[in-house]
Amino acid sequence: MRLVEMEIARQDWKSMLCGCGGSAEHLARDLLQLAGGGSRQEPIDLSLEEHAWSPVVLWEPAPAVTSVALAALADDVALAAREWFLDLLHFMVAGEGTDEESARRGLDLPELCQGLALQGLWLLYEEVMSNRSLGAAGAAFEILTVLEPDRARLQRVREIAADWLPVCCRTGLCDDDLPVLDR
Ligand SMILES: [Zn+2]
Ligand SMILES: [Zn+2]
Repeated sequence: MRLVEMEIARQDWKSMLCGCGGSAEHLARDLLQLAGGGSRQEPIDLSLEEHAWSPVVLWEPAPAVTSVALAALADDVALAAREWFLDLLHFMVAGEGTDEESARRGLDLPELCQGLALQGLWLLYEEVMSNRSLGAAGAAFEILTVLEPDRARLQRVREIAADWLPVCCRTGLCDDDLPVLDR
């Protein structure tokens, strides 16, 4: 069993309320299918919008999805799937609200997801530095701009990776923390 499959199997999806209103069990199937996608290179046409996240809130499965995305990065998944998991992780750490039901139970989903993702800090730096693709390096860097408490380290990596990072990351346009004058 691979790392990402282990992490999917470990989560209690059935007891989680999905954003679509049903049980989150179908997310386990979706994630498993992606993680096992072999070496296919075409872009993946599956979104967890309205299931794990929306532009307004994160839903109950979001922390579990965050852990699975990190396990996928640590695993040997195909490049298209890596990029998909990085984009997914980006949505998880950029979430700004918690769905009503989870909030009533005292959960702060954005905080939980960011805390989990921070444990994968060096995985994200590895993703930036290994430059597997423009999309993967850029997505990993943008996740770091949300998470990294050590802004000096982030800035150092921004300089080192300048040759292959997307323009927005290189110039800091996508980094809300950077004063406009420094851009
Ligand atoms: Zn759903
Ligand atoms: Zn960027």
